[in-house]
Amino acid sequence: MENINKEEISTETTSESTNQVKQNYKPREPRQAREPRAPRAPRTTNKDVKENNTTSNDEINNDSSDKKPEFKKRRPSKPRVFNNKNLPLSGDGWTNDLKKSYMINEKIHKDRLNPHYKLNLNTSAKLRITPLGGLNEIGGNMMVVETENEAIIVDVGMSFPDADMHGVDILIPDFTYLREIKDKIVAVIITHGHEDHIGAMPYLYKEMQFPIYGSPLPLEMIGSKFDEHKMREHRALFRAINKRVPIKIGNDFEVEWMHITHSIIDSSAIAIKTAAGTMIHTGDFKIDHTPYDGFPTDIHRLAHYGEEGVLVLTSDSTNSHTPGFTKTEKAVAPTFERIFSTTKGRVIMSTFSSNIHRVAQAIEKALKYGRKICVIGRSMEKNLDIAMTLGYIKFPKDQFIEAHEVGKYNDNEIMIVTTGSQGESMSALYRMAIHEHRHIKIKPEDQIILSSKAIPGNEGSVSEIINHLLKAGANVAYQDYSDIHVSGHAAQEEQKLMLRLVKPKFFLPVHGEYNHALKHSQTGIDCGVLERNVYIMADGEQVEVSPKYLKKVRSVKSGKVYIDNTLNHKISDDVVIDRQNMAKEGIVMIVAQINENDKTLAAKPKVASFGLISDKQDKFFVKEIEDILALFVENVKPGVFKNSRILEDELRKVVRKHCIRKYKKYPMIVPTIFVQ
Ligand SMILES: [Zn+2]
Repeated sequence: MENINKEEISTETTSESTNQVKQNYKPREPRQAREPRAPRAPRTTNKDVKENNTTSNDEINNDSSDKKPEFKKRRPSKPRVFNNKNLPLSGDGWTNDLKKSYMINEKIHKDRLNPHYKLNLNTSAKLRITPLGGLNEIGGNMMVVETENEAIIVDVGMSFPDADMHGVDILIPDFTYLREIKDKIVAVIITHGHEDHIGAMPYLYKEMQFPIYGSPLPLEMIGSKFDEHKMREHRALFRAINKRVPIKIGNDFEVEWMHITHSIIDSSAIAIKTAAGTMIHTGDFKIDHTPYDGFPTDIHRLAHYGEEGVLVLTSDSTNSHTPGFTKTEKAVAPTFERIFSTTKGRVIMSTFSSNIHRVAQAIEKALKYGRKICVIGRSMEKNLDIAMTLGYIKFPKDQFIEAHEVGKYNDNEIMIVTTGSQGESMSALYRMAIHEHRHIKIKPEDQIILSSKAIPGNEGSVSEIINHLLKAGANVAYQDYSDIHVSGHAAQEEQKLMLRLVKPKFFLPVHGEYNHALKHSQTGIDCGVLERNVYIMADGEQVEVSPKYLKKVRSVKSGKVYIDNTLNHKISDDVVIDRQNMAKEGIVMIVAQINENDKTLAAKPKVASFGLISDKQDKFFVKEIEDILALFVENVKPGVFKNSRILEDELRKVVRKHCIRKYKKYPMIVPTIFVQ
């Protein structure tokens, strides 16, 4: 709608209304100068009056003498004329005037909804956006925003492996593209401290380093990762930002962090101003009007950019299928109150360790009911410590006790905050439940609160931990309470609010699987973004955007790198594929010694198989392989004996054929042949 001319509207309205005013204008009679008013007596409240009922009538009369004079009566001789003389009262005259007013207002609406005429259509500047993680998946968020000469990386997150990625602890994005454009990168900017936004930082910084911009909590969380990875020196790259204060990054970017509510403290949306226009990236968000700390989403700054004209919006799609609004974080408080006020035994509460406000709400209730707080679990201890040290939450330190001190108190004087709400088998709660924790064992009087929801893929392990807790006799509060957990992501109505505030010309839904992004794109269209201006990206797709167009320009390498957490290093793809293959199909090992001269087996071969056939069948299988081997040796072409690799490959093929034909399996086959 760039063709609507704002000036045209405003001149029209002004000239019209000025004429009207002129016609109706009647000069006022000059006012008489007022007498200066006497100083007012101090106000009395009802309470004062009640208490001072001895007040004399005189005093009251004095008060009333200060009353304003009554309104003067209008002189009936000069009635005012309100009519617009130019409007004929018959025919269509007056209707036409209202129609005209309606049309002007309609244009004003269109203009306010579509401020893109403010974008610089003559610029040749453009922006390239490349997600390297976080699309077609949950987690692993990472995105590159580039101009001609410079690039910034937005978030460097990790994700979790599927169950069949044996021995893999975490997944990090493939950094190949970053290596290509390393010299262009001027900064890493961070939206918030969740693992799926900062978890891969140590792995990136082992390879390449840039200044890191973010608010204090996410930076400290990255700092603590750097400490764990023994790379503390990279804390020198931290640049703590001030929200609402745009800062220049490199030559091409001006970036502002805007406060946003989410399931972790100190989250931000980001405005990236470039010559091509402004990009707004929401990060993960919900719009909580009554957050625990009283700092709601900064909708005013978002609206400010919306009025200026936003080129492109990238927005969180995680909950795009959920209608309505996500409940406020405070919704859990009455549930906690109910549980704490009735529990006689210990309260053991578990949630995501990063959800500090959830933990804070539980601590508040515990203190109210005279319970000491015991925090167990490494990540929970670390995050609470960071939040308390930086000042995000404030509780008296002497109310916290160590795990070994729990026994000194009565059960109704204890609350334990712990990890394990996703059923992690290494977590403190899991160990308590199976009686393997050093200090705490679950007992029948315990009240467990699982203030969380299973992340897709974790349903099985959450169910398992609940079974263990119930078997130990404890009372478990989980899904039977509707407000025991609330999401940190925007539902449809909040996504709509974001779209309406920002009013982007182009819209790219991010964070979520394809179906989430697709649903979010429809919400975008419903909120006025033109269908042709919405695009669902995939990891590795590079999109170019300018005030005139948005298009996909190319694909870059993307994917996942497997990380073994105990060693903190990469596991190569083939290792994981071999592990998958062995787990699914089993393994066959053959060791044979053969005579080249007479093409016979020099000794009885050794055959061992695992995960393919049962022990009972094993000797038949060994016999089969021996027979195959004898036949194979007989038929080997003369030259092949000289090359053991070819020889072993040939044998592998023959054995594989047999296993497929007879057992419908593709086991890993490991032959070792000695030729004499
Ligand atoms: Zn998040």
